[in-house]
Amino acid sequence: MREHKIGGPFSTDEIEYGLGSIYPMPGGLKENVYWFLGEDVYIRQVEGEKHVYNYFEKHAKEIAEGRNRELFVDALNCSAGCLYGTAVEEDKAETDDALFNIQKIREESKKNSKHSAWSRQRTPKQRLAALNKQFEKLDLNDFLRVYTDRSKECSYQIPNQSELDAIFNDMNKHTAESRKINCECCGYETCEKMAVAIFNGFNYKENCIHYVKDEVEKEKERALELAREVEHDKAKLAEQNEVIEETIAQINQHFVGLYQSLDDMSKGNENNAEESTGISMDVLNVSNFCERLNDSMKEIQDLINELGENNAEVVSIASQTNLLALNASIEAARAGEAGRGFAVVADEINQLAADSKNTATKSSVSQQKVLESTQAILKETSDLMDIIAGVNGRIQNLAAATEEISASGTMVVSAADQVKELLNNLKSE
Ligand code: SF4
Repeated sequence: MREHKIGGPFSTDEIEYGLGSIYPMPGGLKENVYWFLGEDVYIRQVEGEKHVYNYFEKHAKEIAEGRNRELFVDALNCSAGCLYGTAVEEDKAETDDALFNIQKIREESKKNSKHSAWSRQRTPKQRLAALNKQFEKLDLNDFLRVYTDRSKECSYQIPNQSELDAIFNDMNKHTAESRKINCECCGYETCEKMAVAIFNGFNYKENCIHYVKDEVEKEKERALELAREVEHDKAKLAEQNEVIEETIAQINQHFVGLYQSLDDMSKGNENNAEESTGISMDVLNVSNFCERLNDSMKEIQDLINELGENNAEVVSIASQTNLLALNASIEAARAGEAGRGFAVVADEINQLAADSKNTATKSSVSQQKVLESTQAILKETSDLMDIIAGVNGRIQNLAAATEEISASGTMVVSAADQVKELLNNLKSE
């Protein structure tokens, strides 16, 4: 149109040119022609490829002799046309929605402008004049096509049953029912003829509307499946997020326990260190005490030795006293009245008695010292007992602290194991 400078009133929509929008429905062309020529002309309307060819075959002679009365034949390849026929989705084809909408478009395109070819105010003749003016530069030759009949060059083969099955299967026609839809949308009267045409390379499966619908349906299913998978993945992701959040909360909880255990362990160790220092001091005290006890024992040993010597001295004196007493009695017996030496013996005995007394005194002093030493030992022993009791108590504390440390250690290991397991679970998910 641009090349031949074809123009007209400004239009915003191709509906402007038309009633053309009603062409793809039965009688669409006829209605357009009536608009420009009036309804007195005779137009034969035939729908469906099969009926069209039947009609032409039946009127071939009339047409050839120029006796046919129709201005032209308005024919569609399928009985319902593109607007609501087999080319549209089945659920929409079963309604009159498309026809109703076309009716509205058709009315809107009829204008009240006096100059438009679509004006209601004009007669069909005036409309045609306006239309021809609009397209006066239109060259019919631009629309003429020359065809060469090469049909004889085509070899036409009839497929055997297995070849036909293969073609049908390729067309997604796997059932006997699907092979007999015969909707004629492809231009063939039957599905089998279409399959034969495909077999001979005259057509393609993509020109079968049901094949295309099946493919679209499959694509739709794939898209839906994909959407379901995405939804499923989303749900799984949300689930995993929940698990992760829960696991992280558990990990945090375990770490709180872990820190607490470590803190307890650290305190326990501090106490143990203090206890160990105390025990060490006590042990030193015990050691010092043992030295002192040793000294005391030596002292006692010396005193006992001294006492032994004193006792030997006393025994010796007693022996001498006895001897003297014996001598004195012998002398006294021999001298009789004249026992002058008796006085000497008596003096000696007195002296021995005095010595014995001194020795006894010494022994008494020694005994007193032994007593004091013994008391000191007793006192030191009592102290030792107290110290040992203290040491025992501390050892028990130390044992309890060690147990606590051990329990804390177990908790630490257990917490660490749980953290490890949770992290492993997290990883495997
Ligand atoms: S091959 Fe497809 S389009 Fe052709 S008649 Fe059969 S179903 Fe209809």
